[in-house]
Amino acid sequence: MRWYPWLDSTYNQILNAYRQDRGHHALLLNSKRNNGENTLIYAIARWLICSHPDANQCCNICYDCRLMNVGHHPDYYEISPENNTQTIGVDTIRACINSLHKYAYQSKVKIIYIEYVECLTDQAVNVLLKTLDEPPTNTYFFFKTRDYMRISLTLLSRCMRWPIISPKESIGLQWLMKNREEINDILLAQCALRLCDGSPIEAEDMFKLGLWKQRLELCKCINYVIANGDFLKLVPFLNICKNDIYLYWFITVLVDALKWKQGIKKRFLINLDQVDLITVITVHWGIVSLSRQLQQWLVLLRYFQEFTNIDRELLLTYRLLNWQQDIVESCLH
Ligand SMILES: [Zn+2]
Repeated sequence: MRWYPWLDSTYNQILNAYRQDRGHHALLLNSKRNNGENTLIYAIARWLICSHPDANQCCNICYDCRLMNVGHHPDYYEISPENNTQTIGVDTIRACINSLHKYAYQSKVKIIYIEYVECLTDQAVNVLLKTLDEPPTNTYFFFKTRDYMRISLTLLSRCMRWPIISPKESIGLQWLMKNREEINDILLAQCALRLCDGSPIEAEDMFKLGLWKQRLELCKCINYVIANGDFLKLVPFLNICKNDIYLYWFITVLVDALKWKQGIKKRFLINLDQVDLITVITVHWGIVSLSRQLQQWLVLLRYFQEFTNIDRELLLTYRLLNWQQDIVESCLH
């Protein structure tokens, strides 16, 4: 298991609570980005399930630890959404709860981890609530979410919420540059971190999965369309679903242009490697139109995230032409 140093303090705080018998039986970790919550929950589960933990570490040699190492501990349950529906239904939760009421197979504790808790159906939540109100002895629930606003209030009220925030930029930078040898320029590492809301794991993925190169292609295309007036060339880029990452990158460029126009210093930009592009945008659009455009692009992003059965291409075409039209109007003033 790869450990992330910024989790140390949270890990120790949570374990100290369990060691002093103050640990909550239902813990909900909330993080906007991937900051290693799975690793954290797994490490806590390892400690709870280990027969001979040493201070805040599992022993790694007892039978329970060995079963966990091979991923087959009978008292550790991981529940994920069903592939076809992307929901966690009542039958899955009921089956899990039924096994909880039997004796633990191997260990003294039972652990249930629901990674995407927002995927629980209403019926599944109701069944879960009853168990959370009267949990079987030595049973611990762990939940993870990217957005706790999507979780029912009744379920939230039964859990202890623990926000996992991204580490300080200096810690993220240090980790990122140590782990990815190809990032030899601190500016690029800083830029990747800012594009990922400070999450070093996601910033690393940008380089590992080739997203960085794709982003550079997008920036090149933005430059091209501004120079040639063919704004619809951006449609294929922005229409790529993949969590609307291209649209998000595009919006960060607009955010930077607005900051730049307002005289904010370079070190506060997100796209630190794209100062030329940002300058070009500020030459073509005024502060009022940039601000209006930014709001409208943000609305579109939200719209794409909320609804699936919409004509994305049509909406993008309209937005891009509207953005282009704003150049003309800005130049006239
Ligand atoms: Zn052990």
